[in-house]
Amino acid sequence: MPPIVLASTFAQSSPGVHQGFEYARTDNPTRRALETCLASLEGGHYGLAFGSGCAAMTTLFLTLRPGDHVVSCDDVYGGTFRLLDKVMGPLGIETSWVDLSNPSALEAAIRPETKLLWIETPTNPMLKLVDLTIVTEIARRHGVLSCVDNTFATPVLQRPLDLGADVVVHSTTKYLNGHSDVVGGAIITRDEKLAEKLRFLQNSVGAIPSPFDCFMVLRGIKTLSARVQAAGERATKLANWLEGHAGVQKVIYPGLASHPQFELAARQMRAPLAMISVVVRGGLAGATRMLERTKIFTLAESLGGVESLIEHPASMTHGAVPPNQRAAIGIEDGLVRLSVGLEGFEDLRADLEQALSFT
Ligand code: PLP
Repeated sequence: MPPIVLASTFAQSSPGVHQGFEYARTDNPTRRALETCLASLEGGHYGLAFGSGCAAMTTLFLTLRPGDHVVSCDDVYGGTFRLLDKVMGPLGIETSWVDLSNPSALEAAIRPETKLLWIETPTNPMLKLVDLTIVTEIARRHGVLSCVDNTFATPVLQRPLDLGADVVVHSTTKYLNGHSDVVGGAIITRDEKLAEKLRFLQNSVGAIPSPFDCFMVLRGIKTLSARVQAAGERATKLANWLEGHAGVQKVIYPGLASHPQFELAARQMRAPLAMISVVVRGGLAGATRMLERTKIFTLAESLGGVESLIEHPASMTHGAVPPNQRAAIGIEDGLVRLSVGLEGFEDLRADLEQALSFT
């Protein structure tokens, strides 16, 4: 097992002559072990670990300059929206929000000053897919760097660098760690120049993870493939069952034939994911009743842990997205998001059954 090296500084034999490590913000053996593992998982050449997914995104966005323009898919994690809109916007970096499931909308949104294409697929929480081969090719043709937030799919289900993306970002808080006991983030790329810039920013900005958290994420990764596959199997069965439930208006799940991008999901992803979104009958009141009644599905933000979670995007994870934009994306008040964990399928189904029996 990699040791958890807690030292904040490392002895030098002569001024400036060190044995591979100098100061722990710059580099640390446990963090380096995680970074090497992350790069390998995504098929990248360089991996960088951060103190959160948001810290990873911020560090990447700091490669941009005032006047630069970002095109992002419209249905992103609320924190990503807040970061681009409320933090990078006032610094002179404008973002256009585009439905990337329509490639011609991307062509139309790209400007001469566009520097970054931000992609989530499947998106959070509407589980829309973006055809990575098509959009990354458009970005490359326009000299735009393409970055995929691969938190939802994980490299077990899709490897964006193999499909043409330049950069992959993760909230390792989710599936990679997988046990809801670490907040962390990562950036992976094959681009040497970009990696050098990011390494400089990682050290300069200092949004790094602790060695203990790096160890925890490494440990979580050992079971990543088994967890993602087992949770995906449970989610597929639950989605099928939910689709026939009278209390549910709509099930949004790329592993169902009713999903408009079912074929793209089957082509682009190795197996179905473990996230399901449902529109509950009765709007906000129906959703609230369900959210208050589940016992195994814990009402909490986040996803990707061994335990199942349930949440209300409009008031929780996507509360930072303005109501008109939420409505345009389809985040209605009756929408509920499920992160399916590793509990027994029958227990999960029975929990949803009793929670929905009141709607
Ligand atoms: N990206 C996605 C898809 C997320 O769901 C989240 C958090 O929920 C983040 C990024 C941000 O990660 P963190 O909470 O580790 O800062």
